[in-house]
Amino acid sequence: MNVLNYERDSIAVHNGELTYTEIITNALRHIEEKKSLNAFLHLHEEAIDIAKEADERVNNAPLLNGMTIALKDNISAMGMPMTCGSKMLEHFQPMYDATVVNRLKEHGSIILGKVNMDEFAMGSSGETSYFGPTDHPMFSGYVPGGSSSGSAVAVAAGLCHAALGSDTGGSVRQPAAFCGIYGFKPSYGRISRFGLTAFASSLDQIGVFSGDMPSLARVFDAISGHDEHDSTTSTIPPTQSYSAIMNHAVDLQNITLAILPESELTGLDPEVRKAYNHTIDVLKNAGVKFIHASIPGSKAWIPTYYILATAEASSNLARFDGVRFGWRDSSDASDMTSATRSTGFGNEVKRRIMLGTYVLSSGYYEAYYVKAQKARRAISEGYVSIFSQADAMLMPTTAGLPFKRGEKKNPIEMYLSDYFTVSSNIAGIPSISFPAGYSTQGLPIGMQLQASLMNDEKLLSITHAVSGIVST
Ligand code: GLN
Repeated sequence: MNVLNYERDSIAVHNGELTYTEIITNALRHIEEKKSLNAFLHLHEEAIDIAKEADERVNNAPLLNGMTIALKDNISAMGMPMTCGSKMLEHFQPMYDATVVNRLKEHGSIILGKVNMDEFAMGSSGETSYFGPTDHPMFSGYVPGGSSSGSAVAVAAGLCHAALGSDTGGSVRQPAAFCGIYGFKPSYGRISRFGLTAFASSLDQIGVFSGDMPSLARVFDAISGHDEHDSTTSTIPPTQSYSAIMNHAVDLQNITLAILPESELTGLDPEVRKAYNHTIDVLKNAGVKFIHASIPGSKAWIPTYYILATAEASSNLARFDGVRFGWRDSSDASDMTSATRSTGFGNEVKRRIMLGTYVLSSGYYEAYYVKAQKARRAISEGYVSIFSQADAMLMPTTAGLPFKRGEKKNPIEMYLSDYFTVSSNIAGIPSISFPAGYSTQGLPIGMQLQASLMNDEKLLSITHAVSGIVST
């Protein structure tokens, strides 16, 4: 794998050995050469000009100067289309920049373009995009994970330094694990969702992909913090995680990690189990203390997530009615809206809308939606109690390895594969997937660390220390 490293590149530029213009020129060539990955849906025409500007300010460089970044195609950037991987928005041009896009620009980064994704961020494999599946960067014919498939692939294939995705139930961490890179979902409210197309608003967070921790921390610091356009953003100041990880190394001997009891790890692929055990052994040798802790109702994680996510999605997606945005199907003059929604949405999106309206319908609301809200409370409280005893929680990111395209045909099977990622969205806590080795076949495996609400900087510092010894 030839992942780009911003820290290395920016030093080379500073020393006069490389220019950002050259980096962009190479990136555009690589994107063309690796077109079969189907990662990029749109390239930003102004990227070269912005690279020239970045070259002119190397001696007074902002935090992300010249860093090349890809955007998941559900994040709004003026001058570029935003499809959400759907026919519904195939020709849609957004009219404003998402807050994250503004902040990326302010900090000097170069937005390279928009990348592929599962339709409306619903999926775990990159297979539900209207624009075709995204291929795995190392194993053609395998899925790269999803729904932020293009973001993970663009970074893992060395096409850009970092990428943004969105994570509602694992869509940043799971593709990062499948592609062998870092993927971070911050605490709910840490990054503005203004300009992110809503899937399930109480679970959605924008997250960051990178091949290395320092660049990931830079991007997070640049885009985190309060936004007057998103009332759910926290008012605590933007993070300073880059300087924390560079200047204050975590002493692993002072760290306690919680791990799940054996009974909750059934169903792990033997190769993932091996990597998980190896991670624990390496960390024990480095002095990390471990405690066993279970999160209440682990059997309820998936049902809770799929009830809440589909309920919110059915309401959020009601706006796509053929009048206000994108695709319009006028073939049935008596019901333009049904025709538009029937032909504009793919099967997975329709399945979610139907599930969501079902769990919210008057006869079933108490039995499903209200119960899921109660389970949500119990899960969040369970995490609070765990983090009163441990600095972070360690678990695999996924129970299985990247699989072959078309292999998981049953939607329930696909939903169950989100087992380890959904609980942190339900509780709103920060969590990150880091590379933790490969299967015997060479498929990447990721491990996940989670920390308490708003302890994002601590989580990144611990991950930097932990992954530094696990992945070497
Ligand atoms: N795989 C999960 C789903 O399909 C998560 C999606 C996401 O995080 N956007 O709902």
